Amino acid sequence: YLTRQDKMESNVRSYPRKLPLAIAQAQGCWVTDVEGNEYLDCLAGAGTLALGHNHPATTSAIKAVLDSGLPLHTLDITTPIKDAFTEKLLSFFPENFVLQFCGPTGADGTEAAIKLAKTYTGRDNVIAFSGGYHGMTHGSLAMTGNLSAKEKVGNLMAGVQFMPYPHEYRCPLGLGGEAGVDALTYYFENFIEDVESGVVKPAAVILEAIQGEGGVVPAPKKWLQKVREVTAKHDIVLILDEVQAGFARSGKMFAFEHAEIIPDVVVMSKAVGGGLPLCVLAINKKFDAWSPAGHTGTFRGNQLAMAAGYNVLEEITKNNLAENSRIQGEFLRSELNRLSETYGCIGHVRGRGLMTGIEIVDERQPADHMGSYPADSVLAAAIQKACFDNKLLLERGGRGGTVVRLLCPITITTDECQEVIARFTKAVSEALQ
Ligand code: PMP
Repeated sequence: YLTRQDKMESNVRSYPRKLPLAIAQAQGCWVTDVEGNEYLDCLAGAGTLALGHNHPATTSAIKAVLDSGLPLHTLDITTPIKDAFTEKLLSFFPENFVLQFCGPTGADGTEAAIKLAKTYTGRDNVIAFSGGYHGMTHGSLAMTGNLSAKEKVGNLMAGVQFMPYPHEYRCPLGLGGEAGVDALTYYFENFIEDVESGVVKPAAVILEAIQGEGGVVPAPKKWLQKVREVTAKHDIVLILDEVQAGFARSGKMFAFEHAEIIPDVVVMSKAVGGGLPLCVLAINKKFDAWSPAGHTGTFRGNQLAMAAGYNVLEEITKNNLAENSRIQGEFLRSELNRLSETYGCIGHVRGRGLMTGIEIVDERQPADHMGSYPADSVLAAAIQKACFDNKLLLERGGRGGTVVRLLCPITITTDECQEVIARFTKAVSEALQ
């Protein structure tokens, strides 16, 4: 392999600009670059590698398929691997759910979910939320609440209505806390009720129970419950995008479980394929409006991904990794909150399980009436760079990239979390110099 780190910018776009390394080897939460430097990986393929790099459960599953003579690709024709995988995946849902393979990215899944909702309801409009992220294709991008990603692209899917998403630190109504949640709940309900008497009743509401790319924003339980109640009352399909938060990352198998709701359609990708491309919808049969072959696509039956995914699901349940995710996530956030007492630029620490966001602010500016300081995207970028220099890989999100995000593998240990905090602390102090 001839990759030289100074040539990477010409190799590929995007990530190498922020994380200029070429990875030669990886194991668990660690990656080694071509020059032998070891990095702690709190990016984990944007949450794809739930068990970390090269976990024996996934590598052995992939090797076993390769050595078995089983076909690698079968379109939708079943195999013992597919049967085992679908049975295991369905065991996390109520009995009245079926699966639909899409393929093979998260965006394919959110697109398919909307298409299904339109087919079922015969309606066109969709409600999505500020800060939400559902992919980069024309439909999924239309539902993504990030203006900079779409302002130069015309004719995205029409009929998307954005509504404010509750945000503990930056509630769009400026009320914060319980009052803010109550106001947004009221707003959502009334909007739908008005729509009911008008002409633009939506086919679907799509949301993440914890926004990831939007800056790690968990939705309050009460608000999610109201969204569930109102959508059910008006026969609007409630789609939960669990592409990032699913599979124990949030401290529960699915992030919507924190609100004790059951969605109509759940979009799953990333971790579900154990690091290989796979996307699946879980659909309440009531909304299963497609006739056979109503939704097709060539790459929906990746046997390697299903074998790896099956073992990821087994590992999560067998070793109670949702609980590890909860414990380690709480540890990280309590340490980060302690750090915020020393470093005022850590404006807000939030998340669930191993989805953690650290909002970087300029505390030298006046705080608003909620006590929140203006976000500081320049400092957030400097902290990410300093983390990289301290061999800690992480990503940013939120408006203007002001939220530093940790998406560690859910197998991470407390010792490794301590190392994350040590490197992050050093990086913050260096970025401030
Ligand atoms: N939904 C969510 C919540 C995501 O986080 C992402 C990817 N970050 C997607 C959808 C899109 O997935 P993909 O990049 O595989 O299309």
